[in-house]
Amino acid sequence: MTASTQSENSLATWERARQVVPRGVSSGHRVGWDQVFVKAAGAYVWDEQGNKYIDYINSWGPIILGHCDARVNEAVFAAASTCDLTGVGPQSGEYELAERITSLVPSADKVAFCTSGTDATMHAVHIARAATGRVKILKFHGSYHGWSDVLAVGSSRADLTETSPLATANSAGLHPGAVADVVVVEWNDFEGLRAAFDQHGSELAAAFSEGYVHSFGCVPAAPGFLELLRELCTKHGAALVFDEVKTGFRAALGGYQSIAGVLPDLTAFAKAMANGYSIAALAGSDDLMGHLGAYSKNEATIDGTYNGNPYSVAAANKTLEIMESDDVITHLYDLGARLRAGITDAIADAGVDACVSGIGSEWTVYFRKELPTNFRQAMESNTEQYAKYHSSLLSQGILEPAFATGDRRLNASTTHDDIDRTIDANRVALRAAM
Ligand code: PLP
Repeated sequence: MTASTQSENSLATWERARQVVPRGVSSGHRVGWDQVFVKAAGAYVWDEQGNKYIDYINSWGPIILGHCDARVNEAVFAAASTCDLTGVGPQSGEYELAERITSLVPSADKVAFCTSGTDATMHAVHIARAATGRVKILKFHGSYHGWSDVLAVGSSRADLTETSPLATANSAGLHPGAVADVVVVEWNDFEGLRAAFDQHGSELAAAFSEGYVHSFGCVPAAPGFLELLRELCTKHGAALVFDEVKTGFRAALGGYQSIAGVLPDLTAFAKAMANGYSIAALAGSDDLMGHLGAYSKNEATIDGTYNGNPYSVAAANKTLEIMESDDVITHLYDLGARLRAGITDAIADAGVDACVSGIGSEWTVYFRKELPTNFRQAMESNTEQYAKYHSSLLSQGILEPAFATGDRRLNASTTHDDIDRTIDANRVALRAAM
């Protein structure tokens, strides 16, 4: 395979795309690849040259059962040919999906649907502000929660120097006031968290957190950290929002909160819930979700032409039905545990300074001696070694993120043979990285 050599076909495709789409793509992580993928099935994707890869990007989370799952697609086609968008009243399948989610997720009394993780986290900000009458948001350094103004602060590389403020904008064009409305704390910094609440507690509408951080690889909360966050939010009257856009229905059907035993007031879900169809959910307590009304002064609005659209709702109902009936989570955990153990052995055998972290179907390989506990440490992963490792894996038909803090994940169609191949490929790639 000559996966790293750009074919004439893919060069032409990139060129054509760049003529009419800025950078040639509509989302950042799609830049920087030679490949153009034209086919996907189960655990695999194929590029324009016909090279086959085991896919461990899985579109950064949504693909959980496998690519182009026929059962999900059939449910979507059935919904689309029975009753498509009407824009009036409950949409087909919508409350059944909400019932399913409230029965699975411990903190969910009510659920509202929208179309992306960015949507769901943005609405969480609005509800928290409507409920508390406060403006500021606390979030963790390096944590990504989508692109609404206030949440697109504090997750960039630019703010890694000791002297610069932690709350910097991650995009031009954000409202200048957004930066002042965000309090950024280092992940797993107990003292920093207490100090932030001491200083800003009475101004905080909400604290946002992934229960298990995926924004800079796979970095769990230290024991007691989520409990402290819960305690401080309750004490200071701020809403605790869990961003389960990545962990939801992948770490556990009840979300990471069901593993942690720490319950948020609001939760944002997206990605894995519909095996690739575009849907997100905002779930929460009766009390807070009661602030989601329309057009009244103290209520936050949720409106959207495609919110709860029958195609995505059908995909989500079918995906979650299969996840439950086939105990897909247990299967994903078995595959993930085998893979992480194999990579850990390969790291030891290669004698390279690297380590692997992760949960269930997800993992990250860091090129540093010890597992990172926060953003700064994660960003110390050796980027030159990572680049060699990544390029070796790619040339062996293994598709993984191209950046050193990338989290990867397998889908349920991955076979034990794929896992063995991946461990063998890691042995080669880890030596190439030295
Ligand atoms: N929150 C987290 C933790 C994410 O990983 C992402 C996307 O990667 C988002 C929010 C934004 O979701 P979306 O891309 O659907 O807007």
